[in-house]
Amino acid sequence: MLSAETSLRQMAVFPYTEGVRAYISENKYDLNTILTNPLLERVREKGKERVISSLREMRLGDQRLYDNEECRVEILSFIVSRMIASVIGDRFLVNRLAVTEGKMAVQRLSSEYQNMLIPLAREFGINPEQMGDSYRLHFTSFLKFSSKMRSPEWKLLYQKVDGGFVIVERHKLTRLVEQAITDRLSERLPPYTDEIRNALKREITEVASVLDEIKKEFQRDTLGDISPERYPPCMHEILRQIQNSENVPQMGRFAIVTFLHAIGMSAEQIFDTFSSVPDFRADKTRYQIEHITGRISSTEYSVPECSTMKSYGICFKPDSLCNQAWMKHPLTYYRQKGKKPKAGARKQLHDKQQ
Ligand code: SF4
Repeated sequence: MLSAETSLRQMAVFPYTEGVRAYISENKYDLNTILTNPLLERVREKGKERVISSLREMRLGDQRLYDNEECRVEILSFIVSRMIASVIGDRFLVNRLAVTEGKMAVQRLSSEYQNMLIPLAREFGINPEQMGDSYRLHFTSFLKFSSKMRSPEWKLLYQKVDGGFVIVERHKLTRLVEQAITDRLSERLPPYTDEIRNALKREITEVASVLDEIKKEFQRDTLGDISPERYPPCMHEILRQIQNSENVPQMGRFAIVTFLHAIGMSAEQIFDTFSSVPDFRADKTRYQIEHITGRISSTEYSVPECSTMKSYGICFKPDSLCNQAWMKHPLTYYRQKGKKPKAGARKQLHDKQQ
């Protein structure tokens, strides 16, 4: 643990460590003080900036901390950033915040806080033992934090193992610590309370609006402009049935609403698409669309996977792209259709057309 001997600066750069808890309680920073004390306005502002910077993937906190006041702002603003994330409760935001903290730790462990690697690893239960330039850690610790890493260099099979212990170099131990920080911060959040929501209303509103904007950008980048030529056959068929005033099963309507919403259609545009359904009832349809797209509920429903579409009998007319082994989702189909063919494939297509 980093507790007693940890300096204020160390706590400020690694604000999720045990020592911080003692610091908070010794200095009597209770919830009400952090949320309402006028002298801590800068702390609340910085807490909001931390979340926004992580959403925008900007580096923050790289500035050197010179005095106790700056360290205090750093520690407390970390706590405020977690409160904001807890109230908004959005998984994407929580993960971004956790990943940013993990990356900042790597940066610091690689520069002026190199001597903190072992204490920080211990804080997360890794317990490494230094052996010259390498580190020896129990294979269970290695597996616990490497399980999400996909590249072969992390397979236990390729590690140097000695009697139940894995020998790793510094950069690998640093990466494991980064993962441990990210995992802990994305799994544990302070409990959300109305007191926090009310006190941080302005900060929460601002972060929520940036989050919304980032998600829309993300959606535009991955899915591009709405393009009916890229719809998968199932969605084409459901739309055809709607346009021919045929009765579409409930699951079919659910699938098309979630799909159109996911590719960027507004609730209003989806509503217009549905207005020719025979049992169309404006109020009921609007309610369903707004409910499914998350506008009037806390849940934003996802597009069903191909396996679900198949089990409901609405995987209509699958084509050769649908028959690819990796095709598992209507949005994968849509994305795939939007990709430009690679040069070789373009040439083949051109040759075929000659
Ligand atoms: S395989 Fe998937 S994408 Fe293709 S038609 Fe069936 S449900 Fe739609």
